[in-house]
Amino acid sequence: MEDYLIYIWLGMTFVLGTIVGSGLNVAIYRLPLEKSILWPSSRCGVCYQPVRWYDNLPLLSYWVLRGRCRACGTPYSMRYFLIELFTGLVFAGLFYLDIVVNVSDLLSLRQMHTSIQLGAIPLSAWGYWAGHCVLVSFLIITSFCDLDHREIPLNITVTGTIAGVIWSVLFPWPWPNERFDWEWVERRNTEVQQRLHKGIPPSVAAREAAQREGRDPFQPQLLIGAQPWPVWYPLPAWAPAGSWRLGLLTSLAGIAAGTLTLRGVRFLFGLGRGKEGLGLGDADLMMMAGSFLGWQATLLAFFVSVFPALAVGLVQILFRGRQDLAFGPPLALGILTTVLGWRWLGPHFQILFFNEGMLLFLGVFGAVFMFLASFVLRKIRPA
Ligand SMILES: [Zn+2]
Repeated sequence: MEDYLIYIWLGMTFVLGTIVGSGLNVAIYRLPLEKSILWPSSRCGVCYQPVRWYDNLPLLSYWVLRGRCRACGTPYSMRYFLIELFTGLVFAGLFYLDIVVNVSDLLSLRQMHTSIQLGAIPLSAWGYWAGHCVLVSFLIITSFCDLDHREIPLNITVTGTIAGVIWSVLFPWPWPNERFDWEWVERRNTEVQQRLHKGIPPSVAAREAAQREGRDPFQPQLLIGAQPWPVWYPLPAWAPAGSWRLGLLTSLAGIAAGTLTLRGVRFLFGLGRGKEGLGLGDADLMMMAGSFLGWQATLLAFFVSVFPALAVGLVQILFRGRQDLAFGPPLALGILTTVLGWRWLGPHFQILFFNEGMLLFLGVFGAVFMFLASFVLRKIRPA
């Protein structure tokens, strides 16, 4: 077996995930109470004895101590263990999907497929994976804060947004694809446009590439990068591919899309129904996702998360739980699904996303529809 290195990497990313998960536990517990995550060190919530380092090992210590404090014997919630395990699985799962399987079909990873299978992971692939891990870590914190308190602390989402902006400036679209590849793709896109003006069909190679990606052959080919897509295509002249300006602009557009869409939906529902459905924390969560993903993926993630949100709502109605829903976890699930499924989702909406007239029409149509829907909801079930 030559691919044993992959299993070593999987194990190591899992262990790293459990260590990060242990830190996420601290953040989930302390941040909503406006406590510092750095000071004081971990201690028992009952006897205030500091937890020694060897009693603070992710996953293991919970079982060594049988879920109790060594000093006073108070039982700890199993949730700490489960969040560590979950984060470990997510980190290893992202390594497997992002890098080994190349689920987003990144051109640069496709070209390095053989060496990746042998366990030689290029630095750019690690950077790509690390960005997803940072985003998911913030999503885990916000989801659990939302579940616990029905509130998403602003300090978490703002920190996450800053991280997203920095990541976007460092790794602008179409990174991690090679400069050579993206320049070649842009040349072919220009050629397709010239052929369109002259009424000549696209070349066979261009048609095959379009078919592979499931888009119209006259639509430009957009390489998927760490930022899935650029803010606009054709790119503005002052923000060329791979420039920090393009990264920043794409990130800022994502921030605006995330926060404005959710605030808009909230406002329209409030207008029609006389009662607010979404919290402002949800808008902040989408702002954070937008800073990593740009506006197209953020918008789609919102629609994708409607499905898990409906499932959560249905379960709550069946079991007569709390009346106020936590939208954080469904939004997080929608974001992750959209990121991993962009290769299939993106091209279907490409024609819509890069057409001003179509966007305006859909925006107005969506607003009217949402207002009417909330008005009908109000008539059926008065708040
Ligand atoms: Zn104790």
